[in-house]
Amino acid sequence: KKIQIAIDGPAGAGKSTIAKIVAEALRFTYIDTGAMYRAVTYKAMKENIQLHDAEAIEKMLQQTAITLQPSEQGQLVFVDGQDVSQAIRSNEVTANVSEVAAHANIREILVAMQQKLAADGGVVMDGRDIATHVLKDAELKIYMSATVEERAHRRYLDNERRGIPSTIESLQKEIALRDKLDSEREASPLIQAEDALFLDTTNLSIDEAAQEILKLAQQ
Ligand code: C5P
Repeated sequence: KKIQIAIDGPAGAGKSTIAKIVAEALRFTYIDTGAMYRAVTYKAMKENIQLHDAEAIEKMLQQTAITLQPSEQGQLVFVDGQDVSQAIRSNEVTANVSEVAAHANIREILVAMQQKLAADGGVVMDGRDIATHVLKDAELKIYMSATVEERAHRRYLDNERRGIPSTIESLQKEIALRDKLDSEREASPLIQAEDALFLDTTNLSIDEAAQEILKLAQQ
């Protein structure tokens, strides 16, 4: 059945890696909503727009084409036809994305796009507000987390793989700050939905976590 699967949780909990595997196994489409907030942040920074200026960012966004494209290496992200999949993972974008994502007007636009992408079901969507706002009727809702130490460690290995320089210490700080901004903002803060299942991935391998979700999806 072409259901909707919503996966939320803090930074580095393993959402995207695990969501990708689940989507592949079910032959569903994987949609990484964080990439959309990152794409907006990337372009706003490139255009030297003040990131606290929600109206200016909205104006920019109205003249921006953001597209997601599934590929072998995961989801590719294009801004105005340019592949920014790597660029949106930079430390600079990561450090600023939560400020942009806190703007209610920007969220409204991206949420509408996300709902359109998921309308036909057969999707695994990950983010911060998927179960609580974007796909309130999703058949399966997972809230995924892990200790901040474990999440920093994973991000470190991930960065190493991508060739992005970082230290565990600075990552732990960055993750803790981003979690704080994401859970304390006014517009759709990061919170576990009442009907979401909690999945602690601290001591689970990627495959174990994916199997756990697949079991639930096939019930
Ligand atoms: O998932 P990822 O870490 O790439 O998300 C980057 C940022 O985008 C998050 O820290 C959060 O500020 C924002 N975000 C959001 N709502 C989503 C997905 C991401 O606010 N659904």
